[in-house]
Amino acid sequence: MADGPITELVELLARLPGIGERTATRLAFHILGLEPDYARALGRTLADLHERVKRCELCGNFGVSQRCAICLDARREPHQLCVVARVQDLIAIERSGRFRGRYHVLHALLAPLEGVGPDRLPLAALIERIGREGIEEVIVATPLSVDGEATSMYLAQALRATGVRTTRIASGVPHGGDLEFTDQVTLGRAFEGRREL
Ligand SMILES: [Zn+2]
Repeated sequence: MADGPITELVELLARLPGIGERTATRLAFHILGLEPDYARALGRTLADLHERVKRCELCGNFGVSQRCAICLDARREPHQLCVVARVQDLIAIERSGRFRGRYHVLHALLAPLEGVGPDRLPLAALIERIGREGIEEVIVATPLSVDGEATSMYLAQALRATGVRTTRIASGVPHGGDLEFTDQVTLGRAFEGRREL
């Protein structure tokens, strides 16, 4: 095995999800075989990624300024809010084209067995937003997994006092419920078939 920079690169790549040491090795040698400009561009992009990407102060989406493009878009339906666990889920829903409101990204799910309790959910910000923006419907689009369902039930209960209509996407999403890997048609149907919580 080569040492030095190649080993370093292999070790860093192997820490990424779904990439074992063998794939990491293949990628490292592939990068080495490309024009040096590619490695430089990749390095630069990674180096200032965290400085350039901002978390939207309203919804938690990622963007390039204090507020994300969706929150700034005046054409969005202002009274519907879709609650998602991760930004990847928001992107999947946007791709389906069936939702025209705005989002609230939790960046967490309840996981009682792993010690992740309600204190980790940005509930206060969500409730405050529902009041301030006159939200009429909250669509809970957390995954249809055990943690996603637990989070959805908790939210339904916690939001009851606000009087907002709370709905849940339908279970057309494959079991285990990773929105990111659900096709657009199925995700669209899951929105159409949402039910009251
Ligand atoms: Zn936003």
